[in-house]
Amino acid sequence: MLKVFTAEHQAQAHLVEDLLRSNGIEAHVVGESLLNTIPGSSVIPGTAPEVWVLDSGQAEAAMELIRRFTTGAPLPDASGPSWPCPACGEVLEPQFSSCWKCGATRPFSS
Ligand SMILES: [Zn+2]
Repeated sequence: MLKVFTAEHQAQAHLVEDLLRSNGIEAHVVGESLLNTIPGSSVIPGTAPEVWVLDSGQAEAAMELIRRFTTGAPLPDASGPSWPCPACGEVLEPQFSSCWKCGATRPFSS
């Protein structure tokens, strides 16, 4: 388990959780039960819901998705084959438009 995101509120945490799951990353919202005990309250410092990924090997991919999510960058189509990075050889999931390892841009595929 590895924490990849601290949400501003519960709804945002669940959006991120759904985003990661739809991209094949098993994610869980942690810390929301504490909030549920205080109906109607806003987030209290120290109890903000967090999103954790089960497989820490997927954390970097998860953080890239979250970065896109939080900056409003377009989320790439998650369908299609994996692609090898032309610069470092890392095999990348189809939803990434650039290499998370070295930053190289995905080559145009015809
Ligand atoms: Zn690379």
